[in-house]
Amino acid sequence: MIKSLSTQGLDLDILSEISSMQIRTRLTLQFLLLGGIIMIVASTAIYFFTADFRRDDFYNLLRSRAISTTKLVLDSYEFNTNRILRTGTEYPVRLPDEKIIILNYNNDTLYISDRSWELKEMNTIVGQARLNKEAFSKQDTYEVLGTSYTTGLYRFVVIGAAIDKDGLLHLKKLRTIMIIVCLVSLILFSIAGWFYSGRALNPISNVVKKVEEISITSLNLRVPEGNGIDEIGRLAKTFNRMLERLETSFAMQKDFIANASHELRTPLTSINGQIEVLMMKDRSTSEYKSALESVLDDIKSLIDLSNRLLLIARTSSESPAKPDQKTRIDEVLWQVQEEMERLNPSYHINISLDNSLTDSDQMTVNGDEYLLKVAISNLIENACKYSPDRAVDIRCGYFEKGTKVVFEDKGIGISEEDIKKIFEPFYRGANAISIPGSGIGLSLVNQIIKNHNGTINISSKVGKGTKIILLLPAIS
Ligand code: ADP
Repeated sequence: MIKSLSTQGLDLDILSEISSMQIRTRLTLQFLLLGGIIMIVASTAIYFFTADFRRDDFYNLLRSRAISTTKLVLDSYEFNTNRILRTGTEYPVRLPDEKIIILNYNNDTLYISDRSWELKEMNTIVGQARLNKEAFSKQDTYEVLGTSYTTGLYRFVVIGAAIDKDGLLHLKKLRTIMIIVCLVSLILFSIAGWFYSGRALNPISNVVKKVEEISITSLNLRVPEGNGIDEIGRLAKTFNRMLERLETSFAMQKDFIANASHELRTPLTSINGQIEVLMMKDRSTSEYKSALESVLDDIKSLIDLSNRLLLIARTSSESPAKPDQKTRIDEVLWQVQEEMERLNPSYHINISLDNSLTDSDQMTVNGDEYLLKVAISNLIENACKYSPDRAVDIRCGYFEKGTKVVFEDKGIGISEEDIKKIFEPFYRGANAISIPGSGIGLSLVNQIIKNHNGTINISSKVGKGTKIILLLPAIS
């Protein structure tokens, strides 16, 4: 038990060592293993086929020697079953250590080429030869063949035995050569495997070296893409695209922080200035009151800004709306209208529902009611804020995939140049600078709508007005 556990531990050690090996070493080992297996299988097959051929050849030789000797014996002597040849020296022996024994139908030995040699399995071989015409056997280094031979009415069994010295020597040499060839080719396989895997992995090593150079301060660097078509090229391309996205988002984050601190500093500086001026001398109650009101305004705008920043952070890290949350867009519109008109009596928010709407489900979307409220109130606020008549027309309708809300105003409009950038955080249109604002409303709206899998489309003409179309997918 202890032994098996420790062996298991050893196996695991080896496995973890193999898995932690460099790819190059692993590839070389695999190359070596594959090449080694092929070489060993091929060499073994060649060796066994050659051994088989040698054996067949030698038995053919033995057979023909046995039969020709038998013919010679029978021709040279008057046939007499009782006569036994005492020696085989009269006939030249051709095969190495050749022994020939001829038996008659009674199994009496008619001829024996070497009396000193004794065949141990004589009876078995003779029996098999009579039964199957031929019998094969081995005795020490001798290869033994028993064959039945018929002439006229007489049936003999001839046994031939010899040592295939040349054949066995050749086989031994072949085995040595094959072992040497196998060992040499294993060494060559390792060298070739190491070399080729190195070449194959070279582009990856280059990529790794380059990636190591890339840090937060050098995100502008790119990895070599090679031909850009093969797997490594595609990997490098994908990596470069990821770097591009990272670089942009880092740059955006840097801008965002700079802009956010700037926006926060403005009201704080104003508060600081007002308090300092206030404290220079004693003031009347009405002066204190008006100064505090102004400070309160700055604090409110600070709170508003930090709330929006928090919302941007929340919506950018949150996953899109969960399907179990359902929100009626028309209800959100009514609520926002009521709240905004109460807080800003000068605002005129006109809401109309399209005739195409037949069912309340057509105005229901999957989404967070609070966030949708934030998005819609930002759009309404902008429309009223940037229109001299402080009015916005809102049409709520249905399109084939969900709810459509159109916000239209007759305000200052947005130039084509600005339209491209107004979704960037803190970006403000050139014609809007004189009107208070922080520039993060639309980026927040964009983030919320994206989170709800919706789209937002803006068309505008400077001095004429702005039209914003919001599309939100129907409930799923
Ligand atoms: P803010 O309104 O605080 O400046 P927003 O992100 O809401 O920030 O808007 C970005 C810019 O888009 C605004 O500064 C303004 O130039 C432009 N804008 C947005 N909505 C309108 C609109 N309805 N009419 C004219 N300009 C608009």
